[in-house]
Amino acid sequence: MFGPGEYVPDPTEGIVDVKDLPVPKLMAYDRNHKHTPCPRCSHLASRHTSDQRTLHDLGDVYAGCPVDLLVTYSSHYCSKCRKYFNIDLSDVAPPGSHYTHRVIDMAVRVVVEDSLPYRPASWHLWRDHRVFVPFATIQNWVEAGGKKGARAHGRRISGVGA
Ligand SMILES: [Zn+2]
Repeated sequence: MFGPGEYVPDPTEGIVDVKDLPVPKLMAYDRNHKHTPCPRCSHLASRHTSDQRTLHDLGDVYAGCPVDLLVTYSSHYCSKCRKYFNIDLSDVAPPGSHYTHRVIDMAVRVVVEDSLPYRPASWHLWRDHRVFVPFATIQNWVEAGGKKGARAHGRRISGVGA
């Protein structure tokens, strides 16, 4: 009856409460090491304890649900500096962030490359990548990155080989 171009709305369209969105799939991510170099003196510091942190990642578009990384990370004590510190996770997410770099990079790309305002960008991220990010959060990221026009402009110039 219908061809492949039939419009099928997203099943979550119209949901107004975040709590009604599909529940996230939990993925364990381990960075719980016995030793790690001290960021101050590079001395191999022993683990003193471990803790967990949840990070929202790009979702599972096949299952249609979000993905949360449950990160187990170690906390260390440097006997030389006599200081405690957490193992470095800055390659996965910025300090204190609830989202991975993958999500932040994608959100900024959607705004800068597709020239989308923040609210439609928030829907785009949910619809196509199954990660819910409030539009104000996206705005903070883009503004923290600064010069959104300049960045896109610079990339375009390098693209044509100028
Ligand atoms: Zn140290």
